[in-house]
Amino acid sequence: MENGYSQSKEESAEILRLILQKMVKHPAAFTPPTYAVWYEFLAGINPRLNEEMSKLLDADEPLSNETTQHLFDRYISEINPEAQNKFRQNMQKLLDGLASQANSTSEDTRRFNTDLDKFGTTLNNDPATPLVHQLVGAIMQGTELMQSSVSALQDKLLESKSKVEKLQQELQNARSEALIDPLTKALNRRGLDVQMKKLVAKPEFQGKRISFLMLDIDFFKKINDNYGHMFGDRVICGITAALTAQVKGRDSVARLGGEEFAVVLPNTLTQGAFTLAEQIRKSIEQAKIRRSAKHEDVGGITVSIGIADCEITGNWQDALSRADTALYVSKKMGRNKTTVYDSSMEKIDHN
Ligand code: GH3
Ligand code: MG
Ligand code: MG
Repeated sequence: MENGYSQSKEESAEILRLILQKMVKHPAAFTPPTYAVWYEFLAGINPRLNEEMSKLLDADEPLSNETTQHLFDRYISEINPEAQNKFRQNMQKLLDGLASQANSTSEDTRRFNTDLDKFGTTLNNDPATPLVHQLVGAIMQGTELMQSSVSALQDKLLESKSKVEKLQQELQNARSEALIDPLTKALNRRGLDVQMKKLVAKPEFQGKRISFLMLDIDFFKKINDNYGHMFGDRVICGITAALTAQVKGRDSVARLGGEEFAVVLPNTLTQGAFTLAEQIRKSIEQAKIRRSAKHEDVGGITVSIGIADCEITGNWQDALSRADTALYVSKKMGRNKTTVYDSSMEKIDHN
């Protein structure tokens, strides 16, 4: 995906000015998501966000925390890490620019003040011009005032610079957290969604098929019941590690919920996917997971797997749901099995 953060320093300075103007008119707090929503709206780089937000603004809708968070979740948090970096760099450049501008303004004012001072001294020696002397005095007072307000501005800028840096860090964390499952650090559903958008756009996968494994731990409820929820969590992490270790760099592993995973295999036909799935299934069957406190290894944990594929640009959610149907067949056949989807399975009643 082409990222939208390519504005020049001047453009983003203008955007920053506008953001501040607009943000204060709405009740939403000045949080990183609010900031990001306004930035992308005003930069005009996010057409879907712009459409939705224009509707709200046209209807004179005040943007609350909830509305802004919704806009952020729906239209922004899917931006790729590269775009986040660009955004950060741009803001950094912009703030550095403003700071050095304020610095040089302050220098100029000081120089002007010194010049006036000299001028005043010269005039002092000439008693014939009291009015000019008075005027220069007034101007000097004015420049002193200006100098102190410029230095106050400098302080403010430094302060907002560190605030923005903090906001950016929070924004970056919020974005990556939104895509990753905290327990296993695998992708979550939303992460999978983003990953699929990236894969579909990759030239090397054009015209190729993509296979999906749906994988569910067998009798997981019993594992929890027998060994406790904490051990259950260790099993979930162990299975994630086994999956991640056995796929290639271009493949992705996502935890879709409790004890359910999806593996995405671009440029892979179902036969290849079956071979890999069987390898994964057997490795899990043979593995033992240690119960930390008891120094006891638990084995016999198994998974059931379903496989389906589609064209890279096809409806991948449908393919995932076909893989889920095949997974259901694996469960019905006694678990610890791998099944490739075929259309005759549509007749199976899931209940
Ligand atoms: P099946 O072989 O048919 O898949 O049986 P199962 O027991 O694995 O499936 P079921 O859907 O009946 O139970 C899943 C269990 O997973 C129930 C739930 O308490 C547990 N679970 C869901 N999320 C988590 C989690 O994050 N950690 C732990 N430890 N358990 C979880
Ligand atoms: Mg299960
Ligand atoms: Mg399940």
